[in-house]
Amino acid sequence: MARLAVWRGGAEVTLETVDLPVPGPGETLVEIDLATVCGSDHHTVSGRRPGACPSVLGHEGVGRIVGTGRRVVWGVTVSCGSCDRCLRGLTAKCRSVRKLGHETYQPAWPLSGTYATHLLLPAGTAVVPVPDTMADEVAAPAGCATATVMAALERAGSLRGKRVLVVGAGMLGLTAMAAAADAGAAEIVASDVEPSRLELAVGFGATSTLRAGQAPAPVDVALDFSGAASAVEAAFGALDIGGSLVLVGSVSPGRAISVDPESIVRGWRTVSGVHNYEPRHLEQAVAFLAASERPWAELVEEPVGLEQVGDVLRSELGRPRASVRPRSDPS
Ligand SMILES: [Zn+2]
Ligand SMILES: [Zn+2]
Repeated sequence: MARLAVWRGGAEVTLETVDLPVPGPGETLVEIDLATVCGSDHHTVSGRRPGACPSVLGHEGVGRIVGTGRRVVWGVTVSCGSCDRCLRGLTAKCRSVRKLGHETYQPAWPLSGTYATHLLLPAGTAVVPVPDTMADEVAAPAGCATATVMAALERAGSLRGKRVLVVGAGMLGLTAMAAAADAGAAEIVASDVEPSRLELAVGFGATSTLRAGQAPAPVDVALDFSGAASAVEAAFGALDIGGSLVLVGSVSPGRAISVDPESIVRGWRTVSGVHNYEPRHLEQAVAFLAASERPWAELVEEPVGLEQVGDVLRSELGRPRASVRPRSDPS
């Protein structure tokens, strides 16, 4: 049997059991070792973000393929591979996309999220092996936070010798700082509203820090993970000639910002967006984490069992990621 935590709206989470499925063609059944709690799940439970309900939340995690024992991480999106967007290489925006941890709890696919002992990955999900030497806490965020950052950095282009502004020093922002440092950025400025997060930023490659609201010096690349309209405006305003702004955090409706097209034209500036990512970015994420010597495990809270999923989803974050170890529950 598999055990799973089903979110029923508000603060209500119930524990359920279902029979272990036999994977069909292209499907992969995974036993979850550790799930990390993405910020989007906190936003879903608090009502800041619409989400299917009831559902098995959770999409970041690391586990082992049932049968082979192979250690893997997986992508968030399940794509068809044959629609026009998939054929254009935008599988994250597949016409019939499904997302792990985002689907209504239903008999057709009950093991659809990571707050469970097992996860059934449908055909069309990226699955990437993880070295046994990588700690669970390091590997688990690869499938959302790290891979999304890889997509954002691809959008930004080469960072070698560049001045980079990273807005938002949560899991994604810290990952972006570390990746920018690895990519040879000359300066990495971290900006956040929380001084405690900025302290963390220094250990992840930031060369200077800025409280939100302070005007940044000119930069070549700005990456926004905050989604705050005022921060996006400040980041655009910080772009030097030829600069590029990549937006990642603006995933909920917010107020519009005004941009003078002349400043884009005369300044050779670029504004682009990234939402989710492609399978190559998950491969890059695992390779990046495997080579990185930053204190990744310190970003993850001590794991709780499935019984505490509801509490964890509602509680204020201390470290950037809470975590759930499903098998630590009594069965
Ligand atoms: Zn996520
Ligand atoms: Zn498709």
